[in-house]
Amino acid sequence: MAETVASLAARDTETQLVQWHAQSLDNVLRLLTVSVEGLDSVEAEQRFRIVGANELKEARPIQPWIIFLNQFKSILVVILIVAGVISGVLGDLIDCLAILAIVLLNAVIGFYQEFNAEKSIAALSKMTAPRARVRRAGRVQSIPASHLVPGDVVELEAGDLVPADGRLLEAQVLNCIESALTGESEPVTKHAVTLPNKHLPLGERENMVFMGTTVSSGMGRAVTVATGMNTELGQIASLVEEAGMEEETPLQQRLLSFGRVLVWGSLGIVALVFILGLIRGMKAFELFMTSVSLAVAAVPEGLPAAVTLALAVGVLRMSRRKALVRKLSVVEALGETSVICADKTGTLTVGEMTVRSLYIAGQSFEVTGEGYGPHGEVRFEGKPSDTRHVAPLLEMANVLMGCNNAHVVLEEGKWKVIGDPTEGALLSVGHKAGGSKERIERELPKHHEIPFDSDRKRRTVIRLMPDGRLRAFINGAPDVLLERCTKIYTERGIRSMTEADREQIAAQNSALAKQALRVLGSAYRDLDNTVPAGLTAEAVERDLVFVGLAGMYDPPRPEAKAAVARCREAGIRVVMITGDHPRTALTVARELGIAGTEDKELTGAELDQLSDEVLQQRAPEVAVYARVAPKHKLRIVRALKANGDVVAMTGDGVNDAPALKGADIGIAMGKSGTEVTKQAADMVITDDNFASIVAAVEEGRGIYANIRKTLQYLLAGNTGELSLMTVCVLAGWPTPLLPVQLLWINLVTDGLPALSLAADAIDPDEMTRRPRPRTEKIADRRFWRTTTVTGLLTASVSLAAYLYGLSTASESVARTYAFGTLMFAELLRAFGSRNEIRPVWRLDWLANVHLPLVVGISLVLQFFILQSEKLSWFFKITAMPLTHCGLLLIVSAVPLVVLELAKGVGQRRRGLQEQAGIPDN
Ligand code: ADP
Ligand code: MG
Repeated sequence: MAETVASLAARDTETQLVQWHAQSLDNVLRLLTVSVEGLDSVEAEQRFRIVGANELKEARPIQPWIIFLNQFKSILVVILIVAGVISGVLGDLIDCLAILAIVLLNAVIGFYQEFNAEKSIAALSKMTAPRARVRRAGRVQSIPASHLVPGDVVELEAGDLVPADGRLLEAQVLNCIESALTGESEPVTKHAVTLPNKHLPLGERENMVFMGTTVSSGMGRAVTVATGMNTELGQIASLVEEAGMEEETPLQQRLLSFGRVLVWGSLGIVALVFILGLIRGMKAFELFMTSVSLAVAAVPEGLPAAVTLALAVGVLRMSRRKALVRKLSVVEALGETSVICADKTGTLTVGEMTVRSLYIAGQSFEVTGEGYGPHGEVRFEGKPSDTRHVAPLLEMANVLMGCNNAHVVLEEGKWKVIGDPTEGALLSVGHKAGGSKERIERELPKHHEIPFDSDRKRRTVIRLMPDGRLRAFINGAPDVLLERCTKIYTERGIRSMTEADREQIAAQNSALAKQALRVLGSAYRDLDNTVPAGLTAEAVERDLVFVGLAGMYDPPRPEAKAAVARCREAGIRVVMITGDHPRTALTVARELGIAGTEDKELTGAELDQLSDEVLQQRAPEVAVYARVAPKHKLRIVRALKANGDVVAMTGDGVNDAPALKGADIGIAMGKSGTEVTKQAADMVITDDNFASIVAAVEEGRGIYANIRKTLQYLLAGNTGELSLMTVCVLAGWPTPLLPVQLLWINLVTDGLPALSLAADAIDPDEMTRRPRPRTEKIADRRFWRTTTVTGLLTASVSLAAYLYGLSTASESVARTYAFGTLMFAELLRAFGSRNEIRPVWRLDWLANVHLPLVVGISLVLQFFILQSEKLSWFFKITAMPLTHCGLLLIVSAVPLVVLELAKGVGQRRRGLQEQAGIPDN
């Protein structure tokens, strides 16, 4: 083995030259020193250490350096540094030091925020990294795809991403889409046969699978020949654009351009102040310094960091609530969601199935027992089944278990399914009916398989019978199956199926569906030599012998009902989409409150009859779509979007990917979803639970609200500073704030309080409002009104304090008053900024303890500065007694008190209006 490992590294380059597709399978396995049972874990680990992770090199890893340097990129900061240096040269060393210190502190804070935000976002994208099923030491296990090494035997099935380059050992109707590599969008059919021609283009190496391509149907097994940068994809990795989290969201882009407008606007005002000051005969250099500082104060530089932080914090919170965001831009759309289209099975229901009823040869059986375990029995007319029933039950059990890829295992006292839960339930009932999976596998070896997908709604497994003939076992949706049956199994043997039989079976099917049971039909067919060698679905799945029906119960998720109710309150419509029978779907939908008693469903077949226009008209009323195939989902999404809805759509199967891409918010299921669906999705729900989607919507709304309140807080502060300075220059008074003071206020308030707002808790009322319209601007009329009023109020109290100081004491004392008041007023105002509607005394203070903490510390710090003789030189103030500071604090509370009282009155009035039935505008 040591030799293997040693040679492996050397082979790294050598394997590049091996034409894997032209080697015999034995040769491939020998070259890779592995058997078909896979590597053992020790060997795999050793290889991992040598070859490294199966990852493409990141194009742009996070570099702390760059982030730090970026903090100095702003032109304002550069001007500020230059200004600081100039004042140093001119002899004002204190100013120089103070300015440079503040610039540095600012950069450190900015770096810290940005670095953390980037790190948490990068961590998130890792959480949705693809996984692979690998056979190691004979056991199939699911591992992160990045842990694959050359020699690993990988299992593939429809919906998988091919995790590395591999040579196929086995393939059953395996089709791959290789457009990522070859540009060819049609699926390529794969096989395991050695190809003689050494020099084949990638697209023709049909016995190979390649990293970055996807399995569109069928299943296969391949031995990994290259990983990471050694794969074909790795060779062209520079050309591949990672769907990254880095991109800026539409909101971020809009805020950026908004920010640019603000920069120019504030610079305009600053220039005005400068010119006016000159006219007033103020000293040019002092005026220049003041203007630069004012410009720094006026521009909300903290905004991008705060927005990133709001997104990062929100997205992290979502992940704690089981929703992993894959594209940041979806956060914004989440808050706008007006329709959620959810799969029934596994999302609205628990997805844990137990067969409750069987119907075989005209007889109905009840089945007892819970879960997937073997405990329970089949009962007939209230009594345990007897010898008369042994034969039909066994016949049924053979199909249920013969056409079945699931396993059930006992884990910690609970029976769990590995594979499809539907099939797990069939295994369990097969056992209760007297069948044995082991016996079937032993005596009737599997010959071929035509996999299940949501389009076909059926699965076929062909087995070799003891008499040497092949028999196809088929389970599937009863209506689909009945179309293909011509005979029926009865206790007296097999006979042709009559119309009466069909009607009876259909009636039984809907009776079971009405009890919310998911119904599967079972059939088989003995294949003779007229069946073509290809064993295609059309050739095999016809002329079937119908055996029976199995009705399984899949309870609605208890939390889904509450989540549906929350959606209703939040103005969000919930639509159920399912491949299941209409009756089953409707029963479950009513139980969950998605459909009312008079609501009807729309089936896939009916949908096919509707034109896009008619579907668009009907879409707002339909709450349940049943017996739909994945292709219908995209039409439903389009119809809803055409009506102006913002649509979230869930999906799990490989064919759901287009619908997820088409939706505003494509949601993949973390547990039951295929890798392809996850990669196509904007968001992955780790527990497959509908309630988690609703939680994500709530978080999406919360993030938007946090960005809005932070923006408002920052802008109101800037408005206050700008107005105070402008008014004084206009009036010909000495400047109320010196550069260091302005910069300090800016640093303290733009920093921590703004960030605490960006990470604020969600308002409990958030989910009682209607979805935010897509056209709504983050800065609407009300936003500007509040911002201006707040800014002017802050400026007024500071001005009052300043003028009082001027008239009673010196210029320096007056400045100290203005400095203190402005700082206090802005800090206190942060409490009110948390909510636009509810006054502070109606807020949950414990929900954001960070804010009072940060404000408290800043207040204490400011108190300390104001009274400290030692620090007064640095801030160019006159130290004052603590009592004065206290008085300033009281004056500073005026804006907060006024604004909050106004909110209180507004809320009262709205409450009264509501009671009187007058709608709020
Ligand atoms: P959904 O997930 O919305 O319930 P599916 O597309 O998974 O819908 O299933 C549609 C129908 O296909 C089911 O109602 C059932 O009759 C049939 N079916 C589902 N799973 C299997 C399976 N593993 N084998 C055979 N038939 C199945
Ligand atoms: Mg399903």
